[in-house]
Amino acid sequence: MAEGKTQIAVLSGKGGTGKTMLSVNLAAAIENSLYVDCDVEEPNGHLFLKPSTENEKNVFVQHPKVCEQSCNGCRLCVKFCNFNALAYIQEKLMVFEDICHSCGGCALVCPQKAISEEDRTIGKISEGKSQNVKVLTGVLNPGEQSGVPIISELVKMCRKEAGTTIIDCPPGSSCVVMDSIKDADYCILVAEPTIFGASNLEMVYELVKLFNKPFGVVLNKCLKDKNPAEEFCKEKGITVVGKIPFDHRLGKLNGDGQIAVRESKLYKRMFSDLYVRVAKEVKHETVINP
Ligand code: SF4
Ligand code: SF4
Repeated sequence: MAEGKTQIAVLSGKGGTGKTMLSVNLAAAIENSLYVDCDVEEPNGHLFLKPSTENEKNVFVQHPKVCEQSCNGCRLCVKFCNFNALAYIQEKLMVFEDICHSCGGCALVCPQKAISEEDRTIGKISEGKSQNVKVLTGVLNPGEQSGVPIISELVKMCRKEAGTTIIDCPPGSSCVVMDSIKDADYCILVAEPTIFGASNLEMVYELVKLFNKPFGVVLNKCLKDKNPAEEFCKEKGITVVGKIPFDHRLGKLNGDGQIAVRESKLYKRMFSDLYVRVAKEVKHETVINP
């Protein structure tokens, strides 16, 4: 962990578990925090934080552009492309931009130097402010296959920031989630109190173990009944850093797009206390794993 910087990633096995609710409220409960929405296919942290837009930039990827006059149809590029993004059909090289991974390899292998690279916008990053919270939001354009380049750019931007960063990760355990937690000092896994909740928790648990990241669980929507997600934590010896009760008022504030900690002292205390427990865990992990 870099001096004066802490990155906390918030994950869940599926959408709708309360990941964004927890992320935005934690960010709002901390002085001068940075909230980063890496859920680029469906970013909705901004619907709660309602930040100003101070800066916006497009994110590009490069894709091949073919010079038909120079191409002699040798098909070396087609053979090279592992993603089947090239095909030589009716004496013409076709590029399927949607499945191209922008590796640049086809341009390198072309003996005729017939392939050059062209920029294509796949989305954008907005930078803004919401009271005490700086907000970075990544947005993937509809129909684009991979948000990884936007997440990589967000991760790069976070490296320049001091203080505490809360990263709202995409749901699940795919490569976009892996990219989002790359620099995280600590991961919070959010889980619902159901059998499905426990099975979704297991997915992200396997991921953070694979990446060797320190982590703890926040159990959301807790009732008095048996909680399979909590049972899973007990069984695996996982630290539960917080329990958020099933609470109609919190649900209503969240449903109305409000930040609970800005609406009530009770919630301000609840999320501040949760952050204190998480910060203690981060410190503990830093001491044993410097
Ligand atoms: S840049 Fe890479 S992925 Fe895209 S078409 Fe060329 S070889 Fe295939
Ligand atoms: S490697 Fe170059 S010359 Fe050969 S088919 Fe591809 S673009 Fe054409």
